[in-house]
Parts: sequence; C-alpha cells; structure tokens
Amino acid sequence: MSTPPARTPLRPLDEALQDLLARAEPALPEQSVSTFEADGRVLTQDLCSPLDVPGHDNSSMDGYAVRCAELPAQLPVSQRIAAGSAAAPLQPGSVARIFTGAPVPAGADAIVMQEDVALLDDGRVQVKGSAAAGQWIRRRGEDVACGAVVLRRGQRLSPAELGLAASIGFDQLPVARRVRVALLSTGDELVMPGQVAPEAMPPGAIYNSNRFFLRALLLRLGCEVSDLGIVPDDRQATVQALAEAAQAHDLILTSGGVSVGEEDHIKPAVQALGELQLWQMAIKPGKPFAYGRVNHAQGFAHFIGLPGNPVSSFVTFLLLVRPFLLRLQGASGQWPAALSLPAHFNWPKADKRREFLRVRRNAQGGLDLFENQSSGVLTSAVWADGLLDNPPGRTIAYGDPVAFIALADLL
Ligand code: AMP
Ligand code: MG
Repeated sequence: MSTPPARTPLRPLDEALQDLLARAEPALPEQSVSTFEADGRVLTQDLCSPLDVPGHDNSSMDGYAVRCAELPAQLPVSQRIAAGSAAAPLQPGSVARIFTGAPVPAGADAIVMQEDVALLDDGRVQVKGSAAAGQWIRRRGEDVACGAVVLRRGQRLSPAELGLAASIGFDQLPVARRVRVALLSTGDELVMPGQVAPEAMPPGAIYNSNRFFLRALLLRLGCEVSDLGIVPDDRQATVQALAEAAQAHDLILTSGGVSVGEEDHIKPAVQALGELQLWQMAIKPGKPFAYGRVNHAQGFAHFIGLPGNPVSSFVTFLLLVRPFLLRLQGASGQWPAALSLPAHFNWPKADKRREFLRVRRNAQGGLDLFENQSSGVLTSAVWADGLLDNPPGRTIAYGDPVAFIALADLL
C-alpha cells in the first residue's frame, strides 16, 4: 500500500491567476494578417489614423443643402450631389439636391429632409419652415480625427474593430501569431463517439466529451490546435506523450489524470520532464488544476492540466486557461466584469472553496440555479448562461445580490 500524498494548501483563485499570468509573458512573434482574417486575433501595435473619418462634411439624409438664412423660401435647384461625387460651392439663392453620404457643398450650412420640401411645377422647391444650422450634417472627423490612436496594442479584435480598422484604411493588421496548443485527453475509460456505438459501449466506458469542447474553446480563442488524442492511464505513456507534445507547441493542455488517485499520472510525468508550479485551486468545481512547464531541447512548453470532470474542465478553462491564452497573445483586460443580480434561490450550504455555480438569468431580472451542481453534469453548462461567483464560506438567501459572470463574456 502506498502512503497517501501530503496535503498541500489549495491556492486561492486570484493569487493563482496572477501567478499564471505572470508566467504567460507575451513572447509570440508578430505577424501581418489580412483584416478580413483578423477576427479574434490580438493587435501587437497601436493603430493610428492617417485620415479624418468621415473625410468631409456630408449629409445624413436624402434632401436639400441650404443656407439657413435664406429660409423659408422658394428656390431653384442649382446642382445634384450624390454619394461619391464632388460638390461645387452652393450658389447663393439656390439649394442643392443631396443624398445620404454626399459631400455638403461649401456655403451650405444645413440639410433639409426631402420630406419637408415641396416640389413646384416650375422645378423650384419650396422650403416652408426654417432650418437649424448644422442639421443633418455629419462633420468631418466626427468619428475619427486624423492622428488619433483608434485601436490599442493588446486589443482583441472583434467584428466592430475590423470595420473600424478598415475605415481608416488598414487592409492588413499586425497581430500576435496564433498560440500552438497540443490537446490531450487522459483516461482508460474514454472512447470516441463515432468509433464505438452507444449500444456497444464496454462496461465502464464513457464518451470523451472534454476533447470536443476544449478543442472548440481553443479554436474560439484563435489557437492552432494539434489534437493528440487519448493518453492511457500509464506513467510511461504519459511521459512520452507529454515529451512529444512539448515539441513545436506553446502550450500542452490535458484533461483528467491530475488528481491524487493512483491512476493520475499527469503530475509526476510533468515533474519528470520539467516542473509543476501550480497545483490545486481553492475553487469548486475545478480543484485539480495544474500549471507547469515541460522542457525540450530548445526550451519549454507551458503545461496546463485540467480536471477530468467535464464541468470542472469547462469552468477552469474559462477562468484560468482563457486569460492565460489571451495574455500569451498580449491581450489586455482578461477578466470579465461581474454584474450584481439578485439570487432567486436559496443556497444554504457554504463551501470552504470559492464556488462557480451554473445559473441562468430569468425574466424577472434574477438568477435561477441549475438544480444539479455536480461537476460531472455537463447539462448544467448547456442550461446556464453564466456563472455565479460565490466567495468561500458564503451562503445565499433568496433575493441576495450575487456576482454574475455571463458565459458570453468568457468565450
Ligand atoms: P480524473 O480527473 O481523470 O480522475 O477524471 C475525473 C472524472 O472525469 C472521471 O469520472 C472521468 O471518467 C471523467 N473524465 C475524464 N476525462 C474525461 C473526458 N475527456 N470526457 C468526459 N469525462 C471525462
Ligand atoms: Mg482519469
């Protein structure tokens, strides 16, 4: 019989996250990618605008460009200005037909909507009311001023940022190269859907679900994923798989095998090949989280071991791996802001660990709790639209304000 391993104190999440981020020094090379392809990537340089946007005062309505001082009046139409064309100065005593986005002619100081103008038989227009100076005019530079820093280094690009970058003329963007991640699942019980039919499942076998959501989460974070399959619960096989995975990858991500059971080989394998720097968090779910390094001839690969239980794996990915990957790419602001919302349930039993409960917003503006909070019940992660961040030792009574983190902010 082997002696049980000595108990190490669990690491508080904030402290562990700080430690983790300090080890994720951004060191990925910069590359230039098409703005079309840059969704989800992280900028490595500030983007400074070489021009004003819009580049000229222009109309925000279909209508007529006027001089306010001449109104109300019946006036001839001296020119027609469509979007994309140049405007001549507005002749005194006339109006210009103008369309949305077209440049406002010099001398005009307002636009009158076409709905507020009557067309006369002789071709002139009648503007009945007055106009306020500047109305329906979009000013040059009101969106972006020439020389302004429009997007900062460290910004993670989403569709709106791509549009803004394009609006100042960037067809290529400087971004951090994708993080190369080797993904491994551990466990002799795991079989792959598609390889074994449900009715042919051997006793004790389960489908490998972690592999699917971890791969998808990694891809969403812009990683290049090498899915290296399933490692058996065997020390030598684990050492060999990790040593191979360390080649040509920035990060090795495993699930399972990182607890304290005799079939948990990840921890000793990492220690044999490098070092383990973090192990076991004071969070629920997700206690058996590990961080370390696996050395190879040219340096090292980061190592993160996630728990095997699917919900633990999912939650620790969102709370710890996501910020780590963003930081590796040089992204700023990795921790999402929590909302304060009332709990619409009771949670009478406090836990020593900080809990991340699977909850969902309801139509009354409160939070409902998924009834089964077991770390093996993946249905909870599908049902939930967020995590309730519950401090250690805290019970919750119906109506208490609690901290809600939307899952959408963690993807
Ligand atoms: P472990 O951390 O390896 O002891 O695994 C904890 C629990 O998670 C066990 O019930 C495993 O069967 C389960 N588990 C481990 N890996 C996976 C996986 N890839 N997909 C689904 N369940 C898993
Ligand atoms: Mg296992």
